[in-house]
Amino acid sequence: MVLAEDGVDYVAGDRGYRKLTASFVADNIDVCAEEELAYLAVHNHGGQAEVGFSRTDMASHERGYPALLDINDGVPVGALVFATGAVAGDLWLGEGERAEIAHLRVVDRPQLTLAPGPLPATLVDPGYDRQTRIFGDRGQAVLKGSKVAVVGLGGAGSLISEYLARLGVGELVLIDPDRIDPTNLPRVVGARRSDALTWLRGPRKPTFLRAVGDRFAAFKVRIAARVAREASSTVRVTAVPRSVLEPDIAAMLTDCDHIFLAADSALVRRLVNSITHQYLVPHTQVGAKVSVKDGKVTDIFSVSRMSSPGSGCLQCNGLIPAWKLTEEATSPEQRRRQRYIQDDDVHAPSVITLNAVAVSRAVDDWLMAVGGLVEPAASRDRWVMYHPMTDEFVEVDPAKNEKCLQCGSTRFARGDGAALPVLMR
Ligand SMILES: [Zn+2]
Ligand SMILES: [Zn+2]
Repeated sequence: MVLAEDGVDYVAGDRGYRKLTASFVADNIDVCAEEELAYLAVHNHGGQAEVGFSRTDMASHERGYPALLDINDGVPVGALVFATGAVAGDLWLGEGERAEIAHLRVVDRPQLTLAPGPLPATLVDPGYDRQTRIFGDRGQAVLKGSKVAVVGLGGAGSLISEYLARLGVGELVLIDPDRIDPTNLPRVVGARRSDALTWLRGPRKPTFLRAVGDRFAAFKVRIAARVAREASSTVRVTAVPRSVLEPDIAAMLTDCDHIFLAADSALVRRLVNSITHQYLVPHTQVGAKVSVKDGKVTDIFSVSRMSSPGSGCLQCNGLIPAWKLTEEATSPEQRRRQRYIQDDDVHAPSVITLNAVAVSRAVDDWLMAVGGLVEPAASRDRWVMYHPMTDEFVEVDPAKNEKCLQCGSTRFARGDGAALPVLMR
């Protein structure tokens, strides 16, 4: 954001009331063109709940923006005009396309949605009566208008997906390449023994039968989609049984309103972390871990970490270790040969209650933010770890490293202008 200084960059004009100087516009459109950024001129008209461009504003857009669009090599240019609780926008998208903005989302806690005028009253399904007593009809409408992704549909992710569907979230994007295993049944909500083909996969079954079971068991995303649809008649579910590290799948996250990260992988963590800061989509990383040493349980914790765009990220806080990235980037074949890990997802100690603690906190945090209930004192990202063995809660305010390559200026808000750390084939 570059502020125009009154009397220097913003002066009396010959046609309208006030205008930006030609040199101020020229300097800034050059920066945009060089860095492949959109150019938006922002001013305000005062007022409260309603706002729109004046005739003078529109005339100046029509005079100036075709040329700016040209200089910016077709990357969009346009203008926003604000009132205290409203915003209007005139966007020039290239190739003769021009659009008004319907609404603008302020990605903060609490989260705000602004439009050119008061948002129309919405009719809410009376089935949500007990919830609208907390969030109001407007809050319930925000949930219905939300598109939320869940990455990883194992123990934690399956709970998140069910919670979101029951809360009335309108659209879910569920991503996980794995099929259900009999050892997942104690934790994955909605999973049936028939999904896991347990009758083929018992330890005393012949190897070939077990192989058939492994091959044809249900995808975890299909189970989660079934649970979601049983909970809600209106939820739209996109179930993706593939890895989020594939470029076209990663792209599906970039227009979501929130991402819940429930996959235990450093590569996936790095990707989702990048999307948060590059595309301004907040995420919450959840997990539970049981540490065992010499056959003895030494520590248990569940954790929920919500990250807002621009705040300290998982990388700044040492949660994307380089050794783990390297280890995961080697092929499964190689890994097995080097005996780093063996099916760690399947055999790591885990229990449904630990996941539930992390997940309740994670979805609650998000709900308070989008429902507008979060108090100013609680409006920063705070990561909470619960250790049930010692009954301790540990709170961490994430640190921010200004030079961080993940959340710093090389990636922050770059959108399609920067590459995502996906796996190329
Ligand atoms: Zn104006
Ligand atoms: Zn960072």
